[in-house]
Amino acid sequence: MSALVSTIQAGFDVEKVRGDFPVLKQKVHGKPLVYLDNAATSQKPLAVIEAIRKFYEVDCANIHRGVHELSQRSTAAYEQTRVKVKQFLNARTKNELIFVRGTTEGINLVASSWGRKCVKSGDEIVVSGMEHHSNIVPWQILCEEKGAKLRVIPIDDRGELLMEEYEKLLGPRTRMVAVAHVSNALGTVNPVREIVEMAHKAGALALIDGAQAAPHMKVDVQALDADFYAFSGHKLFGPTGVGVLYGKSKLLNAMPPYQGGGDMIRTVTFEKTTYNDLPYKFEAGTPNIAGGIGLGAAVDYVNRIGLDKIGAYEHELLAYGTEALSQIGGLRLIGTARQKAAVLSFVMEGIHPHDIGTVLDRMGIAVRTGHHCAQPVMDRFGVPATTRASLAFYNTTAEIDALAAGLTKVKEMFA
Ligand code: PLP
Repeated sequence: MSALVSTIQAGFDVEKVRGDFPVLKQKVHGKPLVYLDNAATSQKPLAVIEAIRKFYEVDCANIHRGVHELSQRSTAAYEQTRVKVKQFLNARTKNELIFVRGTTEGINLVASSWGRKCVKSGDEIVVSGMEHHSNIVPWQILCEEKGAKLRVIPIDDRGELLMEEYEKLLGPRTRMVAVAHVSNALGTVNPVREIVEMAHKAGALALIDGAQAAPHMKVDVQALDADFYAFSGHKLFGPTGVGVLYGKSKLLNAMPPYQGGGDMIRTVTFEKTTYNDLPYKFEAGTPNIAGGIGLGAAVDYVNRIGLDKIGAYEHELLAYGTEALSQIGGLRLIGTARQKAAVLSFVMEGIHPHDIGTVLDRMGIAVRTGHHCAQPVMDRFGVPATTRASLAFYNTTAEIDALAAGLTKVKEMFA
């Protein structure tokens, strides 16, 4: 608690920040909302809501095509987001950033486009045992099509990757290593720099699923040397339906288009189509323009607060929550990695997670229950589901206290 106070004194005022999020002001079932489902999607600050509203109220037009004023304005605002994301991820150029629907589409784009061209029978793709289904299934589809093999880095009881097993999996057949930066089900922060380096040494590429990392920590794709990095706008306090795939330009340039249609072409005849330059080669059809503009506002918002401050505050909140939940008898945390971010996943003896979630909801507390789109993680820990409280920088110690009190009540009810 005292550490939290010190963070607040160091310039992070959680109450002030909460004022930026209208949704947090409501009551649910007569109780103040305690929103602890941030890993599923995070809430949106007014700055994002207003950027979207301004687009529809003032600037609404299709982009890249019109010479008229509204189209110029909307194109400029949309493309400005690309520049902001370039700085946010420290990409070399803005052309290495492809707008997609979210992390899932980013990974599917690579599996489909790069995979179609570069993977053949007998090749191997390495994923980890803690991946979200979005970073498993696209590779499985590719492996099935090509006769390639999916190999899996195992995890230990804490929820950390077994790096020596990873090393053993790497070999001349490895084409791609695709791993989460942060696990959505366990909160584990993976040593992605090392993972990428080992993949490269084996002659493979590395894709990092940054869905749960981008909202919580500074990401530098050049320092990571990741070949591809994907994240979702809606987990970064931005709108749904928009996200970004970063890829090294030499790789993206060599890849075939993902989808065909408007914007991704240079010339079309019935005999032959030539494709546009990066990033447009991968952006077929009218995109989520309002979403892209909203994402730019979200990046600005997060930058204004500062990811260092966000990370430090959340770290203390996580420590506070870990301690609070550890006091509850019969509660077992799933995921106790030494490097963790923002996730408290747990089971309670004799009580189904759906019952826990339902009772907490009546108290105004929103948590996620289920397999969190990571069924192999549940299998690894021998549980069908967990309850997951996932944190954002607008959560407070009082909300953690409310969660702990709610869980104590749940325990009494089901005793
Ligand atoms: N990867 C991870 C680690 C996630 O947590 C999620 C969503 O929860 C995804 C991928 C998929 O993200 P989206 O549904 O935004 O595409």
